[in-house]
Amino acid sequence: MIIVMSPGASAQSIDDVIGKIRAAGLYEHVSRGTERTIIGAVGDERSLQASMFELMPEVERALRVVKDYRIVSREVQPQNTVVQVRGLPIGGAVLQVIAGPGSVETEQQMQLAANLVRTGGAKLLRGGAFKPRTSPYSFQGLGVAGLDYLQQAARAQGMPVVSELMDVRMLDTFLEYDIDVIEIGARNMQNVDLLKEVGRINKPVILKRGLSATVSEWLMAAEYIAIGGNHNIIFCERGVRSFDPASRNTLDITAIPLLKRETHLPVIVDPSHAGGKAWLVPALACAAIASGADGLMLDVHPAPADAWCDGDQALDGAAFTALMTQLHPLAQLMGRPLA
Ligand code: PEP
Ligand code: MN
Repeated sequence: MIIVMSPGASAQSIDDVIGKIRAAGLYEHVSRGTERTIIGAVGDERSLQASMFELMPEVERALRVVKDYRIVSREVQPQNTVVQVRGLPIGGAVLQVIAGPGSVETEQQMQLAANLVRTGGAKLLRGGAFKPRTSPYSFQGLGVAGLDYLQQAARAQGMPVVSELMDVRMLDTFLEYDIDVIEIGARNMQNVDLLKEVGRINKPVILKRGLSATVSEWLMAAEYIAIGGNHNIIFCERGVRSFDPASRNTLDITAIPLLKRETHLPVIVDPSHAGGKAWLVPALACAAIASGADGLMLDVHPAPADAWCDGDQALDGAAFTALMTQLHPLAQLMGRPLA
């Protein structure tokens, strides 16, 4: 931690700061300039807080040097983590596409969806059984029956599945249904008890970005999972709230290279929840790949007009296939072909 003293701070105030640093088990490095003195607290600064010093006389400010995330940071692990989902690498040499409906509706809808996303080239199947809807009167998801339909449809196509877990009490059920990747949705990004629980299991976790979470808050949320021992974490940018209602959210393209620099973990993008309109999805998906994303998660529905949730943003089979055709050369150009 760096403690900046006010201009002309007295020797007594400087000594008090040094005393506090030593009392915490660290030592000081004092740099006396012509105007002000800057004191470095050297050692494990985790036991220190900025306010411990900022409330002392003649201290202007105190700055942390070490970040509040470690396990997930590139400083600790320079090489990329490749998360394996039943033999499919995420974050490696190829780009992965996860696709499927926003919510599981019926056995037949799920079978149609699974068939068309696999034929179109997606390797993982998504489907929400527990839905965090804005209105309590909207369809809330089929619950456990949804997990069952999702798994049946996925097994028939030989695909791993991704589904959102909203409540710690359902974790055992997710494990029982062998959900391959647990999605923590935007609304739960800072549900720390849920993060701690999924940190204790060995299933990969997709951690979506909170509605207005900063990149650093998002990294710390991942650290909550990692601390428990589960390092199979995949970040998913899905747009953030902005002032403009023209799109559902604003896809934060900048977050992709920022995260790739800060963390060794894979970063994928959900352009469907960002744009909120199916016609916006192809442009956003291309932008994500061009910006270095490790994959995409797309809402795809056999009949978007009849969808029970988020039909506006779902691609139909033809649009999905057309997008995959468009993405192939782009992925090649980026040096990372689609899986
Ligand atoms: C979803 O993936 O279906 C979902 C609810 O997304 P988000 O948490 O990003 O809103
Ligand atoms: Mn959704």
